[in-house]
Amino acid sequence: MDGTTGAVAVPAAKDFKSDYKPVWCPGCGDFSVLSSITKALAELGRPREEVAIISGIGCSSRIPAYTSVYGFHGVHGRALSLATGLKVARPDLTVIVAGGDGDGFSIGGNHFLHACRRNVDMTYLVMDNEVYGMTKGQASPTTAPDWTKSKLTPHGTGVSPFNPLGVALASGATFIARGFSGDPNGLARMILEAINHPGFAMVQVLSPCITYRPEQRDWKKMVRGAATERTNDQGRAARLLMTDDGFNIGVLYENPRPLYQPTLDGAAPMADLEAAFRV
Ligand code: SF4
Repeated sequence: MDGTTGAVAVPAAKDFKSDYKPVWCPGCGDFSVLSSITKALAELGRPREEVAIISGIGCSSRIPAYTSVYGFHGVHGRALSLATGLKVARPDLTVIVAGGDGDGFSIGGNHFLHACRRNVDMTYLVMDNEVYGMTKGQASPTTAPDWTKSKLTPHGTGVSPFNPLGVALASGATFIARGFSGDPNGLARMILEAINHPGFAMVQVLSPCITYRPEQRDWKKMVRGAATERTNDQGRAARLLMTDDGFNIGVLYENPRPLYQPTLDGAAPMADLEAAFRV
């Protein structure tokens, strides 16, 4: 509270960071993503108690601990289901989900499909580095088939990588974008736009793992602003994604549709639910 005017002070970006020091490897792209999230939240201008960040498991899923908003560090692959429950129960909150490509597209792949389909109003940030970093460098769903640096797949996976944005589009996501950790200001603007989008907003963030994928340092030379304007045409967006090399940055698709926001009228009181599940 401002002592002279009585106005409630809007938190600055630094106020959205917690006192915990990130344990990420020096140079990890997730540092920049954290900064972009806090910048976006400062621009959003909501008090910290009106924002929640939900995650699963993985290096990037540590983000709730490094922010000062409400957070929930859930189990592997279940961040979207937790966030869906929270947003449906508390539609007044701004809900952000943060995680990585393994958590989101493998263990949580089924939840990803249905979150896109349901269109609950929340933002999903996937820090994609095409590897399981926290468990020491196994191939993930977005790893190229000829990546041979993992001891588990010394001859490569031989499997086509998952196409996160193509799957999001086909499954019904209403906002689809790709950002880059090396462009923290541009990414902050993109995250703010995703938060303000009414519906399920999917943002794939290219965020290098410099420990297990050091070659990803070259991503800064490879990313480029998308040559085309965003579209609300699903067919056009699909064609663009099918010819995309994965390094076009920007908002590709935005097309709002009705939200999944069931009424809570008639829902069982919390005490009854607790009694039903008591063991
Ligand atoms: Fe970042 Fe990779 Fe280190 Fe994890 S292992 S903190 S993703 S650089």
